[in-house]
Amino acid sequence: MTGGVVSSLGKGIISASLACLLKARGFRVTIQKFDPYINIDPGTLNPYEHGECYVTVDGHEADLDLGHYERFTNIQTTRANNVTTGRIYQSVIDKERRGDYLGKTVQIVPHITDEIKRAVKALGNTGNFDFVITEIGGVVGDIESLPFLEAVRQLRWELGSNSLCIHLTYVPYIAAAKELKTKPTQHSVKKLQELGIQPDVLVLRTERNISPEMRRKIALFCNVAADAVVQSIDVDTIYRVPLKMHEQQLDQIVLRKTLTSSEGEPNMGPWMDFLNKMDAATETVTIGLVGKYVELQDAYKSINEALFQAATYNCHKLRLIYIHSEKVNPDNVAERLQGLDGVIIAPGFGQRGIEGKFVALKYCREHNIPTFGICLGMQCMVIEFARDVLGYTDANSTEMDHATPHNVIDLMEEQKSISNMGGTMRLGAYECRLAPGSKATEAYGTELIRERHRHRFEFNNEYRDQFERAGMACVGENPETHLVEVVEIPTLRWFVGTQYHPEYSSTVLQPNPLFLSFVKAAIAYGHEHL
Ligand code: GLN
Repeated sequence: MTGGVVSSLGKGIISASLACLLKARGFRVTIQKFDPYINIDPGTLNPYEHGECYVTVDGHEADLDLGHYERFTNIQTTRANNVTTGRIYQSVIDKERRGDYLGKTVQIVPHITDEIKRAVKALGNTGNFDFVITEIGGVVGDIESLPFLEAVRQLRWELGSNSLCIHLTYVPYIAAAKELKTKPTQHSVKKLQELGIQPDVLVLRTERNISPEMRRKIALFCNVAADAVVQSIDVDTIYRVPLKMHEQQLDQIVLRKTLTSSEGEPNMGPWMDFLNKMDAATETVTIGLVGKYVELQDAYKSINEALFQAATYNCHKLRLIYIHSEKVNPDNVAERLQGLDGVIIAPGFGQRGIEGKFVALKYCREHNIPTFGICLGMQCMVIEFARDVLGYTDANSTEMDHATPHNVIDLMEEQKSISNMGGTMRLGAYECRLAPGSKATEAYGTELIRERHRHRFEFNNEYRDQFERAGMACVGENPETHLVEVVEIPTLRWFVGTQYHPEYSSTVLQPNPLFLSFVKAAIAYGHEHL
């Protein structure tokens, strides 16, 4: 899957939609993303650069597109599903240092391209998949993507009809001329052809319907079969895209071109049930998200989607209000949180905006508003409780204040010797044992769960008794290390914090139980405080 003209056209969504359809036909599918930047992974990138950092079960910090892949396919991704230029070069350079190249000059072609091809084939070679969709990040014409596209060219040659290239481009509407324009698409396909790649399928992102005549014209100019030109028109939710692609037979085209036989229609029944619930919802649940990246659409992507899924399964529309944590103070908190049915305190790093989270938390706790703290949000719940209920007014996390006398959140023991920042947090899925009778156990319907993590700091167990005596219970812990994973205040309606990130595991067909429970509590509270 390549992209042309501009970025942000939704290659990830088209890849995920195709995978969703193939899976619904009974195939085993996975999607991988190649990112042409030098960082080894996006874990060290600021959200302003790259939106949310997604985490796979095996502890890889990954591009947020992997979140879409999982949400659409319900199939977990791993480290092998996200590869950057940095990873490719690192592995080639490591081999060079080991002497693996036996004195040869190491070059972009064939050594870098071979490494890229190896990474493409690695998932197929596991024998676990019938289809591997590889999304090449960036836009055709970027200097950075050249080695990846050269690898695509070589692979197409090697694999023949076992492979195909889908190219996503943009067909802009020029309002003054009242016309859709195909020229950028023609140029972008020419660019691919110059690199020796002939796309088999074109997906055209557009805001207006593209006529059959215009599609035929594009097909003619681009050497693509007329029925393999598909449009991707703007829709109200990304979850409709698989159906839009199926209406235009994207899945059938892919099967035909790869000489794969598949009878009948994909089983999209459960997916349709989700969309029907969404369409049938008339009432709204209003959730506030308190965080410091609220001006960024993608910074809390998985939380937004998990909330949307949970609202839909609770037969409600979601109204999500972003509340800038730096702008919340004791004077305006009542006004800022007014009308909310539930509040999420967002994950994050560093001091900025943290005091606003404490103010919001105190208000939520004192007014018994359903509240969900995630990762840093959970840590803030603990700190706020220590300051206001335990009376340790100087309580803090050692992340924010090294010298705090009441380090209720502290650096994990295993983190103390770490100085490298990249990929060294506590990452990936770990087990958590939940206490019987807690809100969390009720939500999950089981006492042993596995969720994904991304943090260095942790609840300080020395304070555990004091918290429990004062009313904040530690209701989830890692069975081996006893790290606290879930806290809650059982006397409140719904006041739960998780050290892990439940949003990463929430998918369309398997929404996360804790989000379902939180949204349900928010809806109930909404009815009460009307
Ligand atoms: N900064 C906190 C930690 O490292 C929380 C991280 C997060 O919210 N993902 O422990």
